[in-house]
Amino acid sequence: MTEAEPDANPESQGRDVLPDPPASPAPSSQQTVWAVFFGSVAMAIAFPAGELAAWFFSTPKRPPLHADPLFDLVPMVGVAVLIATWVFVFWSLIGSFLNVVVHRLPLGQSVVLGGSRCPRCHSAIKWHDNLPVIGWLNLRGRCRSCDLPIAARYPVVESICAGLCTAVYFRELLSGGANLPGRPPDFQHGGVLKLFPNPALDLIGLSLYHCGTLCVLLVWGLIAWDGRRVPSRSVLAVLGVATALPLVFPPLHPLGLTGGPGMIMGAVDAMDAWLMQGLAVSVAGGVAGLLSGLLLQWLLGRLLHGDASGRTGQPLGQPHAVGIGLALVGIVFGWQGMLGTMVLLLVACLVQALLWSALAEWPTVPTELLLVPATFLHLCAWRQLVVAFGPWWPASPTLACLAVLVAMVLAVAAAFAAIAPAPSRPQRNRETDPGHPGDQPA
Ligand SMILES: [Zn+2]
Repeated sequence: MTEAEPDANPESQGRDVLPDPPASPAPSSQQTVWAVFFGSVAMAIAFPAGELAAWFFSTPKRPPLHADPLFDLVPMVGVAVLIATWVFVFWSLIGSFLNVVVHRLPLGQSVVLGGSRCPRCHSAIKWHDNLPVIGWLNLRGRCRSCDLPIAARYPVVESICAGLCTAVYFRELLSGGANLPGRPPDFQHGGVLKLFPNPALDLIGLSLYHCGTLCVLLVWGLIAWDGRRVPSRSVLAVLGVATALPLVFPPLHPLGLTGGPGMIMGAVDAMDAWLMQGLAVSVAGGVAGLLSGLLLQWLLGRLLHGDASGRTGQPLGQPHAVGIGLALVGIVFGWQGMLGTMVLLLVACLVQALLWSALAEWPTVPTELLLVPATFLHLCAWRQLVVAFGPWWPASPTLACLAVLVAMVLAVAAAFAAIAPAPSRPQRNRETDPGHPGDQPA
């Protein structure tokens, strides 16, 4: 679904007001939408493409992909591509729904009831204009009836949601869980054999659980980007569902509480062991994530002389939003996955600090939104990071990994302190910044 940008001026929403003179089409935003679309497709197929390239350049040639004879391989790849296309379209439709959630949730409106309408001419948006990405491009980003510009963010979010989740489909499901620590990857029966004839229910469940988490983080990040507030009730509902799902289906936690493997399908004898293990991993991860996020946000806010106005990605509406985001990550990935994601989040903060100093017009991307790429990249390389960095990676309780975390926090703190108090940065969709007494240099 697509909703046109709400008009800032309430008077212009009446029917009797003449429409604005047709503005020139905005080729830049159309190019942006096309670029993000192709970028998302590239992100979606990056892993199988990399696997294929590695095979192509390897000498001597390993047997192709999953050691299947060629006559089996070609139809299998064909089916995998067909399913991948379906997966991409499905998640772009979900992305379209997420746009509506981002728009309506902070306003307390129903996210399921009521079709999309143009906020100016109130005409219902036709189903074929509501198709993800294509609908927007076909309309050239304008309402069919009244020419009101429709924000390019809608197709961009649809593309990114589809790209992220299709990448997870390849990386987590079709690879046989090659990204997951605590369990051996199943290379022998990879590819579409993970879907039929004997579907790998644990991997299907894991990839859906992780895609859902990415979608929630995307919604929360975009709401923070808008300077709005996620209603507490919906936050609690999401955290509750994320905690409950592994209780129903324990393989959703690949790692146990102490770093060993989590519950493997078929290896469970006692029902209460299931419940205790699932609950312990979720609660430990959730509490660790909440505390780490609150501490991080407080520290970065302090370093900017108490400036919590969004300049460093601190959200306006929700001072504890990073804590909530990391709590969800902790519930879903356990405390080990949460700490790993936090390392990548700190890297993202560092990159943004560099972009701030290099590009004057680089906008303030809230930390909550940076959590989306951090969580995605950590998920895709989870096992590889644990293997590559050994005791230095926060996957087991070692002093070395604690030192890495502290060093990362200090590095980000130093980078932020070096650029604060920052010159006024472009604020996205935020109220005019009234400034803060703490902004003035002492
Ligand atoms: Zn209209």
